Amino acid sequence: MFDRLKDVRLDSIIHSFREYSADTNVNKIDLGMGVYRDSEGITPIPQSVRIAQKWHLASETQKTYLAPEGIPHINSRFQDLIFGKRYSDSRIQTIQTPGGTCGLKLTALLLKRLNSGTTIWIGAPAYLNHKSIFQDSGLRVGYFASTNQRHQAFLESYIEAISLMKRDDAIVLQACCHNPTGVKLKETDWHLILNECGKVGVLPIIDSAYFGLGDGLKNDLYPLRYIVKNLPQAIIVSSCSKNFGLYRERVGFLSVVGNKKKDLDNCFSHILKDARGMYTSPPAFGAFIVDLILSQPTLKSMWLSENRVMRNRLIDLRSSVACVLRDIGFNVDACRAIEDGRGLFALLDLDDYQVTQLKKIHGIYLLDNSRINIAGLNKYNIDYFKSSIASVI
Ligand code: PMP
Repeated sequence: MFDRLKDVRLDSIIHSFREYSADTNVNKIDLGMGVYRDSEGITPIPQSVRIAQKWHLASETQKTYLAPEGIPHINSRFQDLIFGKRYSDSRIQTIQTPGGTCGLKLTALLLKRLNSGTTIWIGAPAYLNHKSIFQDSGLRVGYFASTNQRHQAFLESYIEAISLMKRDDAIVLQACCHNPTGVKLKETDWHLILNECGKVGVLPIIDSAYFGLGDGLKNDLYPLRYIVKNLPQAIIVSSCSKNFGLYRERVGFLSVVGNKKKDLDNCFSHILKDARGMYTSPPAFGAFIVDLILSQPTLKSMWLSENRVMRNRLIDLRSSVACVLRDIGFNVDACRAIEDGRGLFALLDLDDYQVTQLKKIHGIYLLDNSRINIAGLNKYNIDYFKSSIASVI
């Protein structure tokens, strides 16, 4: 029966990395995969993580299963971190998930159970996996423009799109460091967007995959705290891949905000049924590391300062990249967006031919939509990047 299947192309993030790995060009640069890299091109294991994992290994006595929700005290510690202790109350429940990706998948399955007619709205340009996750779960996906032609946040489009959505539709919003644009929403933008969701009855799904790497924890998590104070319901999906450097350990959390405890309990009974069927028990190792870091003051301050180093490098690098591109006469608006944006990503607005030339001739790997991971650039490769871009524009 396998002969009935046609080949399906994995998204261009995975594809670009495969092409990069196979390329023998000594100057090749991977700007496709979305991981943080330091000035030496390394994706570091933070010192706080190294220490926590040593402590954990020294005290670990068993490796039996965790319950599908993970470990309750770890879930509440993480919930306190992201919502802030003041806001982290009985209106929220949190479980651990294998990365943010599974948090998104569980969200999709929950929405499908709740109302199979729901449309999931995603701002374009979009993170590629959002579409796959929601659509492959049997939900309808719709798009609205989240940036204007000058590469800025397009607030009017958000508001108009939400005002036209149906009650019980859902909208996927990224808390900070937008993937793929890097475009940042101001606090006042969040108020308008989230208030409109509340007015129309649209469920916000906040994907918080990069918190800490934009403007610091408090700013990056602002929409979560605004939601708890002002909105009846929302879903928050968090990832510890980038901010803790725990990528392959697969640590994420799924939080649901609702008005009644009974509703939340019912919601989680369905979510946990899906978790049970999909993976039964979330990976424990990374979750223990996160818990040690958050519970031990010395480790926590070490982690916060390591986070600051990553964030500052990204901000400085964004300015340098914008500068380098301005030098070669690159699109002025795209340069400003790179500089003003936050996080790992920027869209260069190159066409398919230019992207192919960069890969095939120069060994510079970016996504098909010309998204680059700024953190893949450093003092050793930025001149090569500059001359390569200059030769394709
Ligand atoms: N959302 C966005 C926007 C992302 O960029 C990513 C990681 N690429 C994720 C969710 C999921 O990350 P993970 O599964 O590693 O936690």
